[in-house]
Amino acid sequence: CGIVGYVGSQSALDVVMAGLKRLEYRGYDSAGVALLADGGLAAAKKAGKLVNLEKELVERPLPAGSTGIGHTRWATHGGPTDDNAHPHLDNAGRVAVVHNGIIENFALLRAELAERGHELNSETDTEVVAHLLAEEYSVAGDLAEAMRLVCRRLEGAFTLVAVHADAPDVVIGARRNSPLVVGVGEGEAFLASDVAAFIAHTRSAIELGQDQVVELRRDGVTVTGFDGLPAEVHSYHVDWDASA
Ligand code: GLU
Repeated sequence: CGIVGYVGSQSALDVVMAGLKRLEYRGYDSAGVALLADGGLAAAKKAGKLVNLEKELVERPLPAGSTGIGHTRWATHGGPTDDNAHPHLDNAGRVAVVHNGIIENFALLRAELAERGHELNSETDTEVVAHLLAEEYSVAGDLAEAMRLVCRRLEGAFTLVAVHADAPDVVIGARRNSPLVVGVGEGEAFLASDVAAFIAHTRSAIELGQDQVVELRRDGVTVTGFDGLPAEVHSYHVDWDASA
């Protein structure tokens, strides 16, 4: 129900967890985070409130990283369990994806992936995206392009945010019929389903349009359509009170 992404020089875990807390009012049944650290990917996820995830992070701390994504889930496909919580990873554990919305054609995509030897570990409609991204990335070598290729095969409503251990300092977001906002800071960038998640850090925002993909790097953001063409960017200043 909520999504946060960060790339910069702060602790990604701190920024993402604070952002998820700002989105708690929307309601959710599970939460999780993934970080890029030490050339790899580390993730933690738990059913229940954010406090359960916080406990897990104390018991099994993640390595420090400055690129990360986080999610609060409102289950639509698969019950509210640890396994069904986001992020979802590919079989090599190199790609992590979080998702708000519903992927209508997930059953077909699941069957195709199973036929190609992928092992799916959850009951969600989301998990297929992690596997498809891993496949496309291994050919395209570019996470934004991999996301565009995957999105063109998806039906339904989705905000998707992903990281890949082979693409450090990059966070990719995509949206169709579901909200996604970008925050642009000095040497850092944010992604969220709602500006409330990053307003403590920056007031400079970009509203992502329908069927668009955004690539976040420390030094800026690039927006394209699912077709790969450069997109017109709608920038604005968030001027409402952060303490509200
Ligand atoms: N359909 C996905 C799931 O059930 C995402 C739900 C959400 O929007 O949080 O896992």
